[in-house]
Amino acid sequence: MKYQKITMSPNKKIALVAHDNKKRDLLEWARFNRDLLAQHEIYATGTTGYVLEKALNIPIHKLQSGPLGGDQQIGAKIADNEIDFLIFFWDPLEPMPHDPDVKALLRMAVVWNIPIACNRATADFMISSPLMDGEYERLVPDYQSYRQRNIQWEKESLQEA
Ligand code: PGA
Repeated sequence: MKYQKITMSPNKKIALVAHDNKKRDLLEWARFNRDLLAQHEIYATGTTGYVLEKALNIPIHKLQSGPLGGDQQIGAKIADNEIDFLIFFWDPLEPMPHDPDVKALLRMAVVWNIPIACNRATADFMISSPLMDGEYERLVPDYQSYRQRNIQWEKESLQEA
């Protein structure tokens, strides 16, 4: 498979999202890592962003609340290369009205090969990685062949026209 490289700058665009039962966890984690987070650009879903901004006193780009489209906004930003790091403390014990959005967001993170932490231990390892301080060449599959794939019905309808 061919890959293209996307360069992450030392100043990372980090998205933070926590479901309600996980907000306290994320808040504690973010407080502990406040000075490090302050060196990067932070995005968050609405309520998570509101809670964190008050507690950390750093500017946060606040999107819609998750169930109102915030998860999808973050997914779109990942696809547009506007987010390069996702900390997503989702709740494994509660069904959510926006479960499809949660799944879609996790999927976008994998499609575009961005680092994702879904729990505190992974977030600790990620934020303390030496890769945080420098540029990082993210390898993304070259989706050009997928974009140009053969669509059989399209060929047939072109022949009929
Ligand atoms: P919230 O959304 O930060 O607005 O609570 C989080 C989510 O449920 O995805």
